[in-house]
Amino acid sequence: MSTQDDTILVINSGSSSLKFMLFKMATETMVVKGLVERIGTAQANLVYQRPDQPKLEKPVTANDHGEALSLVCGMLVDPEVGVLKSLAEVNAIGHRVLHCGEAYSDSVAVDEKVKAVIRDYIPLGPLHNPPNLQGILACEKVMPGVLNVAVIDTAFHQTMPKYAYLYALPKKYYEEDRIRKYGFHGTSHKFVTFATADFLGKPKDELNAVICHLGNGSSISAIKNGKVLDTSMGLTPLAGLVMGTRSGDLDPAVVIAMMRQGLSADEIDRILNKESGLKAINGIGSADMRDTISAANAGNEDAQNALQMFAHRVALYIGGYFTLVGGADAIVFTGGIGENSAYSRKLIIDRLAALGVELDEARNSVLRGKPGVISTDTSKVPAIVMPTNEELMIARDTYRILTSR
Ligand code: AMP
Repeated sequence: MSTQDDTILVINSGSSSLKFMLFKMATETMVVKGLVERIGTAQANLVYQRPDQPKLEKPVTANDHGEALSLVCGMLVDPEVGVLKSLAEVNAIGHRVLHCGEAYSDSVAVDEKVKAVIRDYIPLGPLHNPPNLQGILACEKVMPGVLNVAVIDTAFHQTMPKYAYLYALPKKYYEEDRIRKYGFHGTSHKFVTFATADFLGKPKDELNAVICHLGNGSSISAIKNGKVLDTSMGLTPLAGLVMGTRSGDLDPAVVIAMMRQGLSADEIDRILNKESGLKAINGIGSADMRDTISAANAGNEDAQNALQMFAHRVALYIGGYFTLVGGADAIVFTGGIGENSAYSRKLIIDRLAALGVELDEARNSVLRGKPGVISTDTSKVPAIVMPTNEELMIARDTYRILTSR
């Protein structure tokens, strides 16, 4: 039987890092966060940060995710800096999981079947699913008997209809090879969809919105009646917008042209995922939006063009998705760029006049990192900023599954 004091540990396990946050769900308060980075190297490092204390950082020995988690657990119950008397206070653990394809449309309590599904989707999530699974296995070992919940990045997008998620390819590629649009950033799109419904005072299942998650990775979702109708990322997170280092949408023949130049699949993969996007086009070789804006302001024409390319592509998707959802209750900005960059938001919203979206320059220029309206009172469609919080979404889903058992 659960109580209001339920303590939820959130784990985001990557290839060489294990990030964590601990939440008290009665007040949805984050009581500590941190990470172990460079796991498996001689430079492994632990960062531990309580909101009420200075950040701690120290070199550690962590040969694998299990050792990293043991170190984190030691800190959580440390007599001086810990936040728990005993690990038994952790009621459940929520794990960020990248890809479970069509298997789950919601977060799910981990059992042998769930672990098999995560394994089954390794070919479609080769960089993330293996460390996500390692994080789960580490928790099962270090905290046996505690509920683990998989909060899956593809799950929220599972409501897409077939006409939105199928590629116009021979059937075999979908039926045998599972090639289709899955969409990513689902946990963020879910959090922001729910938060926007609350902000607008609308029931979740009546919300129509275009959610723009703009960060180093960027994606847009079309929300119809609180559910995803379409989203800009595809089989992988490479599709859609111009991102920090990813190209976003291309004519597929570009890939054929690169192959004809003799590039291997791995080389093309690296170029499109790591050497493209803002980094490739802004003339300064940085993937960062702030650097791009500074360079553009200093007169760099490539950087100026990169900002236009970024905004042009975002506006293209907003226009399409606005139409598909039958007119949105709001255009919503989130992610590092969407929450903080008034400059980027202006470049985008200035392109949306035909939809009746009108920017309030004063509101836009001051709003950073908190919810609020950035359009005028007479704008036909409100443009709003809604900070995302994927970790809190993971904690909420984990708590919901814990308390419904
Ligand atoms: P994320 O991946 O969501 O953490 O977002 C990272 C991106 O947000 C980077 O490109 C940052 O340059 C960008 N960003 C964060 N703060 C600002 C800001 N004040 N102005 C412009 N871009 C920002």
